[in-house]
This record gives sequence, structure tokens and C-alpha cells, in this order.
Amino acid sequence: MQLPLETEALVVHTPGGPFEMTPIVIQNLRPDEILVEMKYSGICHTDLWLQSGGAGPLVKFPVIPGHEGAGIIRAVGSAITRDSQSLRVGDAVLLSFAACGSCVPCREDQFSRCTEFTPLNLTGVRRPDGSSPAAVLLSDGSHRTETPVRAQFFGQSSFSRYSVVHEHCVVKCPYPEDLALYAPMGCGYQTGAGTILNIMKPRPEQTVAVFGAGSVGFAAIMAAAALSTKQIVAIDIVGQKLALARELGATHAINTAEISGGVVEEIRNLTGGKGVDFAIDTTGVASVVEQMLDCLAYGGTAASIGATPREAKITVDVGAFFAEKKTWIGVAEGDSHPPKFIPELINLHKQGKFPIESISKVYPVADLERAISDMKDGTVIKPIIRF
Ligand SMILES: [Zn+2]
Ligand SMILES: [Zn+2]
Repeated sequence: MQLPLETEALVVHTPGGPFEMTPIVIQNLRPDEILVEMKYSGICHTDLWLQSGGAGPLVKFPVIPGHEGAGIIRAVGSAITRDSQSLRVGDAVLLSFAACGSCVPCREDQFSRCTEFTPLNLTGVRRPDGSSPAAVLLSDGSHRTETPVRAQFFGQSSFSRYSVVHEHCVVKCPYPEDLALYAPMGCGYQTGAGTILNIMKPRPEQTVAVFGAGSVGFAAIMAAAALSTKQIVAIDIVGQKLALARELGATHAINTAEISGGVVEEIRNLTGGKGVDFAIDTTGVASVVEQMLDCLAYGGTAASIGATPREAKITVDVGAFFAEKKTWIGVAEGDSHPPKFIPELINLHKQGKFPIESISKVYPVADLERAISDMKDGTVIKPIIRF
């Protein structure tokens, strides 16, 4: 496919502004990049955070959000180094976050620990020169201008009909017919499932609490259920989501909008006074993080996996933390190496142990706003747009 290429993308022009389908031009492809025709993209809360201006000075506008893309390769740069995947034009691919490929964690196949993770994924521009592969097209009759647009959010900016993506984002999908279903593997699903399967690895007699029943929380719950974890406690404020969580593997549900006492007390009651061996916070809300730490059992591990405002502070009972040998970790993207982990999750789904079809719904791109409001009110856990 020849570049430059005129196409369209959902551009956010100013912080807090709407997603507007806008003409753009894809200008060029570097040797280490891949042009993908996007077929689907999941919507993640991080896209809304980006739209709202939450990234602050890290991201300039205009910007194209989206980081759970799935589509077809239409052009491959001349120096794609990951020969192991032998990426070719026409391949169906899932997109995940970007990684530099050359730092120590990357060389050890630990992309989620890449030392360049933040600049590569959150700024929306190429490294190291800060350039962009695309521009917003404006024309008033005879006059035509091209304004650079941040088009590599998480290396991919998947809210676009075509996107130039970073080579390390790309994971081949052996099931082209399932691109819609698998699009969110690259962020939400691997974040929740990876925290359970790569880090916590609960044994069947152990217990897990998951705060927040969004797509990340559901992925964690389904992964814990796949390991036959004895008790899986889902915590949220939307009854409809908790009911679904019970269907998909949670053994207990706590609706914090309905209980009279504290959630920590509830969790202790459910676990014979002990607390849980593992707790996960997907909400990023400081007070919820405190609850997560307080509900841990002796020797328990808690993981923060939801984005929290950088200035957020919490109070920790350090003495109890020390005496009871607790651990608190931050986990990005489920500590996963997508080229290895996403195929594992696909296998888990094919075995019927990761029933993501029960939490996602596909919307035409024209219905983006409805998809977002369905996600916000809990009608749908994971909306996916179709181009
Ligand atoms: Zn790296
Ligand atoms: Zn995400």
C-alpha cells in the first residue's frame, strides 16, 4: 500500500474535547514500523483519561487515542527485526503496548518492564525524535494544511482506520475470524489475567479479592477461576456487574454501595477472619487501595494495577505490614510479554476457561459515544468499536 495515505481517525483536538472523525494523512513508515488497517479496537478507561487531558504535559493535542487495536497488516517496514513472527502483508494481528526492544528487560522478553515504557506508550509520538507518522488534514477550498497529530498512543493509536504502529506492538492472530473478540487482549485482558497468571499464581486452596469489576477486574476473576481458586471475591458498586462476575467465576460479591459496615470487615468475615491471600486494585482510587492492603491475610500480596493519580497518597499500617509479611506491588500490563502471553490467553479462551465473549460487545464506530456510556454505567464491561 502506497504512502502518503489519506484516511480518517477519531481525533481529540483539545483536552476534554469530543472524539471527532477527522480526515488525516498517514505520511510515512519507518523501517521498524508496520501499517495496519484497523478492523476493531477495544475501548479502555485509559483512552478516556487521555481524552480528558489526564496525561497533562506528557501528551500534546490533537491526539488519536486507542490502544486495543486489531486489524490486518497492509505494509511492513524494511527493517522489521522480529523475524520470529515473520510478519507479512495480509496477516491478522492484535496490537499491544510498545516496548523499545533493546533495554535489559526487553532483551529478556519482559516487554512490560521496558525502561522506556512511559515515553513510548503515553506520549503518542515516536522515539527519539518526537515525530509523528500522521497529520490532521484541513482544507478550505484551495488551501490545505497538515497539522501533526499524536498518532502512536501505546505505539498504535488504534482509533483510526489505518495506523502506523511500532513493531513491538504487533502479535500475530492465528484466528482472523476472532479479531473482534481478541482485540482487548493487548491491554485490559492481559492486565487482569497476567497479574493472576504471571505474578500471583494462586493455589486452589487460596483466596483472591478483586476491587473493581471492569474489564481488567473480570479478566483477573476469570483467570483466578481458571486456576480453580477456592474463593474469589468481586467488589464493585454496580449490582449488575457483580451478578455477571458471579456467573463468570467470582464465588462472592460485595456491593460496597449496599453494605452497612466496611468492606474489609466483609472480606474478613468471608475468609474466616483471615483476610485474602491476594488482592488486586483495578480502580486506582486511593481509599480503595487502602482497603486492598487492609484485607490481606498474613503473608498476603496486593497488586495495584489501575492507574492512580500521581499525587495520590495513602496511609499504611507499617507495623502490621512488616509483622504480617505482606507485599504490595505495582504491575503494568499484567507483567506480560505480549508475543508470548497473548497466545497463551487465546489458548485459555479456546479451552473455554476465559469466557470473554460474555463481557464484550461490538459497536459500529459511529456509535462510539453509546459504547462509552454503556461502559460507564456498567451495561457493557468491554465495548469494542468496529471500523
Ligand atoms: Zn525496553
Ligand atoms: Zn488500557
